[in-house]
Amino acid sequence: MSTHDLHEGTAVSTILIRGARILGGAPSDILLRDGVVAETGDLAGARADQTVDADGLVALPGLVDLHTHLREPGREDAETVETGTQAAARGGYTAVHAMANTSPVADTAGVVEQVWRLGQEHGHCDVQPVGAVTSGLQGRQLAELGAMADSAARVRVFSDDGKCVSDAVLMRRALEYVKAFDGVVAQHAQEPRLTEGAQLNEGEVSARLGLTGWPAVAEEAIIARDCLLAAHVGSRLHVCHVSTAGSVEIIRWAKSKGWDVTAEVTPHHLLLTDSCAERSPLGPYNPIYKVNPPLRTAEDVRALREALADGTIDCVATDHAPHPVEDKETEWAAAAMGMIGLETALSVVQEAMVETGLLDWAGVADRMSARPARIGRLTGHGRPIEPGAPGNVTLYDPSGRQPVDPAAMVSKSRNTPYEGLTLPGRVVATFLRGRPTVLEGKLV
Ligand SMILES: [Zn+2]
Repeated sequence: MSTHDLHEGTAVSTILIRGARILGGAPSDILLRDGVVAETGDLAGARADQTVDADGLVALPGLVDLHTHLREPGREDAETVETGTQAAARGGYTAVHAMANTSPVADTAGVVEQVWRLGQEHGHCDVQPVGAVTSGLQGRQLAELGAMADSAARVRVFSDDGKCVSDAVLMRRALEYVKAFDGVVAQHAQEPRLTEGAQLNEGEVSARLGLTGWPAVAEEAIIARDCLLAAHVGSRLHVCHVSTAGSVEIIRWAKSKGWDVTAEVTPHHLLLTDSCAERSPLGPYNPIYKVNPPLRTAEDVRALREALADGTIDCVATDHAPHPVEDKETEWAAAAMGMIGLETALSVVQEAMVETGLLDWAGVADRMSARPARIGRLTGHGRPIEPGAPGNVTLYDPSGRQPVDPAAMVSKSRNTPYEGLTLPGRVVATFLRGRPTVLEGKLV
């Protein structure tokens, strides 16, 4: 058997995974056959075309990202569907939602179908396009939401991410519109007037560094408004990359009312603080830490971790935002906002949530696979590893720690904020519908 055969999908039809700890439990064999999980348990007598030794490895359902920037079409110098999904597979993902802020913007059936087709042809995981809420992300008129929902891409998540749908009337109309096809509006919550020229979390660090502040209230005010709007029209709201303790309180309140509000947090907001801009392994004023929403304070990080643990925040989403070197290695004020995150997400979550005792592996599977799949209405993902489920499985070795090496990453961009840090764990293998996309840590 060659790796070529695997990629072409001709050779291997059964794979036996030996001794994996499903959700961190007791060792179990997993037989993948014809794209699905055929059997689990003690399968000593089972025959398979290929056997994978998973002694000591944790088996998780394939991870699902609600928030990935694949940059194609338009910025293929930063990332493509092929390289971005390679990074996803290496990170243990079997499905990603591709954000709409491409060039052209994914605001018509034609563009979302183009991205969907690129995923079918070049994807190392499933690619589910996100549709823009407003035409051209301009915030003036609604995009073709219904046509995108009815297209071959079957769009269910709509977002102007990168920009906020700040007009309350447009936001209300979008929330009303998506009800017809069980869609959800994913809001990048940033009140634009309160954040003009903003560079860094508004606080002590921004004051000392002399950088224009991005105040927490600019996020919290939009989240509060949108929770009220979603409740008013009886629709589904998803809050992107929650970054402040105050936002957590608002979402907790909205959920206590029974409103259909969900939320995500990024790995970097679970681990890093605005102090990175001042002192870090990479030196002060390093724009590698410039991101939107900005890194916040240690108190915010604590609140975000607790909210992810108690379910107030539903899931982890990477906000993988590749940028070429020339857009990041410049002075802070001129640098692009964003960080890559697909290849490090699981290690960061282990560091922030598992090593701290806040989540066990079942909790990680819930927050990184089951819930994001449910929010995005991806029926083929996020299912428990049990007979009959699609054969989407990630094998993860939680032991050991390694320095983060940007040069070893497969994303086309290298703007990782974790260079200089040592993180636990590594993804050993990823299976998409019963076929490996990653084996022994390497792309198949
Ligand atoms: Zn965003």
